[in-house]
Amino acid sequence: MTVEVRRVVVPETFEATLVEARMVTPRVRELIFERVDGKAFSFQSGQWVSLVLPLVDEKDRPLRRSYSIASVPRPGSRFELVVTRVDEGRGSTWLHEMTVGTSLEVKGPQGMFQRAADAGPSLFVATGTGVAPFRGMIHDALAAGGTTPLWVLFGVRAPADALYREEFEALEKTNPRLRFMLSMSRPPDDWAGYRGYVQTHVLDLWSQLSEHGRPEAYVCGVKKMLLEVRQVLKTHGFAERAQLHLESYD
Ligand SMILES: Cc1cc2nc3c(=O)[nH]c(=O)nc-3n(C[C@H](O)[C@H](O)[C@H](O)COP(=O)(O)OP(=O)(O)OC[C@H]3O[C@@H](n4cnc5c(N)ncnc54)[C@H](O)[C@@H]3O)c2cc1C
Repeated sequence: MTVEVRRVVVPETFEATLVEARMVTPRVRELIFERVDGKAFSFQSGQWVSLVLPLVDEKDRPLRRSYSIASVPRPGSRFELVVTRVDEGRGSTWLHEMTVGTSLEVKGPQGMFQRAADAGPSLFVATGTGVAPFRGMIHDALAAGGTTPLWVLFGVRAPADALYREEFEALEKTNPRLRFMLSMSRPPDDWAGYRGYVQTHVLDLWSQLSEHGRPEAYVCGVKKMLLEVRQVLKTHGFAERAQLHLESYD
């Protein structure tokens, strides 16, 4: 009998300073933080951090918000986040106005949303900043080598919202196993790619991926999209629980 022993790692709490920030789409700000203590920031692609903001919640406790680590793992004390400005959202609005040079408390990295090195053909489905954890996962998988297909289906409203598009398209040119597909809900008239919500294309892509082995889906974004993707796959009897990996932002 094999007994799986999972090591429970208690996330660290540390101070980090915002060292660089820029708007990367009309509603998304990229924030680059650096640990104040200069220690290395180590994480597994797919994990997230919790930020303690200088605001309080309805119970007068510090306001905490979680963000996927958008960086590609590399040595050093820096890490990147991408934050969508949510209308009337207190946390995201504060982060969009945070001044470079100021610091806050961070707890992390945390989370189990990860792709195993020996995972099967993989379909990564994201909307908006849900693509953040896939950046590291894709870079890791390409660096590890192999031929297992890595397909990214990314739902955005319009071309300006397509975070990391140039980066994924550049990787796609040199890595035939990577396929990057944008699906736009408000595309320009001449858009020849996918249209509409990602959930309408999942089934077809899953069937195509099945020709390469037993697929796995990694889905990240708001819960409504996650549930619809899961429903589409389940209704057609395709996805066992172990083949679906979901990370909900709300
Ligand atoms: C594990 C985890 C990782 C996350 N990673 C990211 C990330 O990398 N980038 C990011 O922008 N957010 C991420 N979020 C969401 C983030 O924690 C906040 O919920 C978000 O910034 C809204 O906080 P707020 O205080 O501004 O809004 P609130 O007042 O708390 O309002 C919440 C509302 O915002 C909606 N919402 C939450 N996230 C998003 C989003 N990304 N896009 C559109 N609407 C959203 C929710 O549906 C909800 O209606 C993550 C959440 C979790 C649990």
